[in-house]
Amino acid sequence: MSTSLLYHAFGIRGYHYTRTDYQDGQTIFTIHQEPETCRCSACGSPKVQSRGHVQRIFRTVPIGQRATLVVLPIPRVECQGCGAVRQVKVPFADPRRSYTSAFERYALELSRRMTIRDVAKHLGVGWDMIKDIQKRDLSRRYARPKLKHLRHIAIDEIAIAKGHRYLTIVLDLDSGAVVFVGDGKGAKALKPFWKRLHGSKAKIEAVAMDMSPAYREAVSTNLPEARIVFDRFHVMKLFNEKLSELRRALHREATDVLQKQVLKGTRWLLLKAAENLDEERDEKAKLREALALNQSLAAAYYLKEDLRQFWEQPGKKFGTLFLDGWLKRAEASGIKMLQEMAKTLAAHRSGLLAYYDVMITSGPMEGTNNKIKTMKRQAYGFRDKEFFKLKILAIHETTYELIG
Ligand SMILES: [Zn+2]
Repeated sequence: MSTSLLYHAFGIRGYHYTRTDYQDGQTIFTIHQEPETCRCSACGSPKVQSRGHVQRIFRTVPIGQRATLVVLPIPRVECQGCGAVRQVKVPFADPRRSYTSAFERYALELSRRMTIRDVAKHLGVGWDMIKDIQKRDLSRRYARPKLKHLRHIAIDEIAIAKGHRYLTIVLDLDSGAVVFVGDGKGAKALKPFWKRLHGSKAKIEAVAMDMSPAYREAVSTNLPEARIVFDRFHVMKLFNEKLSELRRALHREATDVLQKQVLKGTRWLLLKAAENLDEERDEKAKLREALALNQSLAAAYYLKEDLRQFWEQPGKKFGTLFLDGWLKRAEASGIKMLQEMAKTLAAHRSGLLAYYDVMITSGPMEGTNNKIKTMKRQAYGFRDKEFFKLKILAIHETTYELIG
């Protein structure tokens, strides 16, 4: 083993090669540092005296399929300048870790294409070691996103761990980046965000969110200048939930077997946008059949499709006319679900119309949520919540495999 190979293969420079051992399928290189190159690790003085050494073993990049270790007796020296006895610096590894920086870089490189489990298996180390390597890298790059440039944001909560625990996500709608992940939901979860945001002097113009009061007051208090937009994504999501409830209730009440069956088959068709119905699979016909059988379901469905037009109007004036017209029709339908929906929308009228001032929607949040769901499905992705949160902060960029 030459000194230059030590450098080029493992990033180890300034040491001398001692010997190579092969043990239990591992390749073990022993290296040493010449006494005359030792420096005080505190003041850098070369005027030091040897005081023995501390033997350390570092895992480094494997050669072939074999785990490769570097054994280094780290010299301890007494400094004439500051009088202390210390270990000299080890430039190729963090002294707190059991592996070299080259190993760390290699594990990160593999992580771009492989799951943590696969990287750990390939390198013959534990899951936690690879997770910790990723975690430090993610923390360095994403733990403190810059907020100064924020103009348009979306705030939403996501359920984690079977719906009983939540995280609150803030998305930069201009860049698509997640800029904050808070513990829990509601106003309390956002507190650290406001603190950082005010420190950044960002001027937020608008915030997209759902119609629940959870974040509304927190935003009004902390961003009095910002427009609140109750956005399309959340409004339609709520409508679809209500529509599903209506269908379920009708299905429960139906006595006719055929009618029951038809209602059951329309579960997803009702939620689809009309233009996305698949002609080849007869989805249009199936839906028509179900709607013909049930008047209130038909009314709810057509008003759902109709409401989508609210966001397609040429401007605020038309948007206002459209919304008020829709509210009247829903009210006049005589169907409880639609009347309730109309009541909710009427109570949030100005926040709905605010769309025509700033044209934002939480739509991009849906993609983010789907990626988080993918991560969530991996049970061990959750062993370390801080790691999970860092992965969410990095989710808009191609970093590592989402799944653990
Ligand atoms: Zn010193």
